[in-house]
Amino acid sequence: MIDFPLTGNSRVRDAVLSAFAEDRIPHAILIDGETGTGRHTLARYLAMAAVCSAAHRPCGECRACHLAKADTHPDIRITAPEDGKKNISVAQIRAMRSEAFVKPHSAAHRVFVIDQADTMNEQAQNALLKVLEEPPGTVIFLLIAASRSALLDTVLSRCTVFSLSPPDQAAAFSYLQSVCKDSEETIRSALTASGGNIGEALRILSGADTAAAKDAADAFVRFLLKGDAFEMMKVTAPFEKSRVETDRFFKELKLAVAAEARRAPAGGATAKKMTRFYESLTEAQERLVTNINLGLLFCSLVSQAIALDYE
Ligand SMILES: [Zn+2]
Repeated sequence: MIDFPLTGNSRVRDAVLSAFAEDRIPHAILIDGETGTGRHTLARYLAMAAVCSAAHRPCGECRACHLAKADTHPDIRITAPEDGKKNISVAQIRAMRSEAFVKPHSAAHRVFVIDQADTMNEQAQNALLKVLEEPPGTVIFLLIAASRSALLDTVLSRCTVFSLSPPDQAAAFSYLQSVCKDSEETIRSALTASGGNIGEALRILSGADTAAAKDAADAFVRFLLKGDAFEMMKVTAPFEKSRVETDRFFKELKLAVAAEARRAPAGGATAKKMTRFYESLTEAQERLVTNINLGLLFCSLVSQAIALDYE
């Protein structure tokens, strides 16, 4: 089972985990809390758990979990205000409602995530209520809202509510320290700037981290071209401590590899090598969501890079 980072909301986490362990997943869940408190993290975790095929859900390793992670699982639907609109329309809710009666494609459940549920007007909420009153057995509704006060009592009474609150400063600080390699001072100032909000602090910190990841990715590509495994391992070593950092590094590395492939003469050895390496990188990225050891992940990636020279 994959771990569940919900810093400062351990009571909510325990409630969620015990609901899954006992196989009593509510049909309608409302996750409320300010932006940056982990609402989407929790919603994604629940959606993944609902479609996962393993005994201890979500395993993070099965096909369903991978699809959920990539936001491509056919049984997970997300409804949010359409581009440029402020509200989720009644038409959107009606469309979702009729879809709710279709059998799941591959999972045991279909999950309908309603993001910014507090933007539904009364008419839309009443349309939702119809299906909440008699939900098909396979369906789970996950409502995400900044505040439950905009929701009708009739809707609220059908939902199991998980309220997320911002973690205390000490918990927020130690969480950020565990996922970022920035100095204590940088982390503190990001936390202050964000008013103690972890999601916001991470956004502030990622600006600086992206530059570091980009430099590392450029260096990696230089050593990849030379086939220098030792130097490649040296570049990846600092990332072994954190999945968040590794994820950032992989994203930058993909961009750098794609740029190198475009620069190289079409059909030549370098272009081919870059294309093949890009594939290995995509696989490594997928394995990142499992609990694979990061040292091993980098080691296998570098060996694949070296093997390309002998093909
Ligand atoms: Zn799974």
